[in-house]
Amino acid sequence: MAGPKYTTDIRKVVQIPADEREQLAEVARKFAFRSNDYYLSLIDWRDPGDPIRRIAIPDPEELVEWGSLDASGESAYVVAPGMEHKYDQTALLLVSDLCAGYCRYCFRKRLFMQHTNEVARDISADIAYIRQHPEISGVLISGGDPLFLATPRLERIIRQIREIEHVKIVRIGTKIPAFNPYRIIDDPALPGMIRRYSTPEGRIYIMTQFTHPRELTDPALRALDILQSAGAMLANQTPLLKGINDDPAVLTELFRSLSFAGVAPYYVFQCRPTLGNQHFAVPVEEGYRIFEQAKSRCSGLARRSIFAMSHRTGKIAVVGLDDEHVYLKYHQAARREDIGKFMVYRRLPEAVWFDDYADLVRESRITRTEEEVRQVPPLIT
Ligand code: SF4
Repeated sequence: MAGPKYTTDIRKVVQIPADEREQLAEVARKFAFRSNDYYLSLIDWRDPGDPIRRIAIPDPEELVEWGSLDASGESAYVVAPGMEHKYDQTALLLVSDLCAGYCRYCFRKRLFMQHTNEVARDISADIAYIRQHPEISGVLISGGDPLFLATPRLERIIRQIREIEHVKIVRIGTKIPAFNPYRIIDDPALPGMIRRYSTPEGRIYIMTQFTHPRELTDPALRALDILQSAGAMLANQTPLLKGINDDPAVLTELFRSLSFAGVAPYYVFQCRPTLGNQHFAVPVEEGYRIFEQAKSRCSGLARRSIFAMSHRTGKIAVVGLDDEHVYLKYHQAARREDIGKFMVYRRLPEAVWFDDYADLVRESRITRTEEEVRQVPPLIT
């Protein structure tokens, strides 16, 4: 069958009243709109706060000036065209500046806003860099959405990575199973390619991004089954977003449904302070409570995720709260000596990012000063 039809013109989404479409076209001029008729059919148009609508449809709130276009400071880790090397073991390769839909909360929306040279068209310099760095055991292919590339093009990329002996894990970050499962269902070449390169010694991991349980439709489950049957390992990461999944019942359903489908819930990310994202931000401490409540209703297999901020210095997990303090830990860090570092800050219910706590450090209103925090011995070395 022909796949879903794409649209980049919000004025053609006839389910939205005409006058509203004009207003949303203004928003889409700043932050590009893109979706397809499959994904738009998941929206309950009678509900103005429908979570799928919030994921896909522009909102005038995006014009509120808040946040930055590179909230995680990715530019500081660029080592070759389209490639970032932040954590020793992992290289991040951006290969596409297109997605099957643009998430309104995207933290890399800069890729769709202007012509950037952040995406690698020719990966020869990236491959050379990876070859010279034997500590890199995994490459995360991302974008944009790598599965939006034609399979032969994706295969050329994966083949070159696979030729490097020390790279064992190839990860593909994608929202295609949610946005357009027919990209997988209708392409017999894709499972064949995965089968060739996901081997017993080094698997291909598909990092899905299901953000709401209603995205796990029958076609989406069929697509996941095709990927699994081809030998890919599946794990899911999602941001925690106001009005989409900031409800323990919704998050529980997401974790449970993923685990039933054999997809490991992996990261739940604090919404990054990205330009245009203020209306999606849930405060850190509230997010942690939602996350813990959701996990408490799940079996062990559905509880494997970590709630973390993907900060410019590393992945900072929120690991506990008491009446006065919030407990944070570097799950991953750009500086090796920070890995496992445990940090205690005074509660700040309005904090939406690690920097909000760090600002308190500068104001000397925290439990430990920044320097003292640095002295805390890592739990993991
Ligand atoms: S799929 Fe990923 S890269 Fe694409 S718009 Fe959504 S969050 Fe951004």
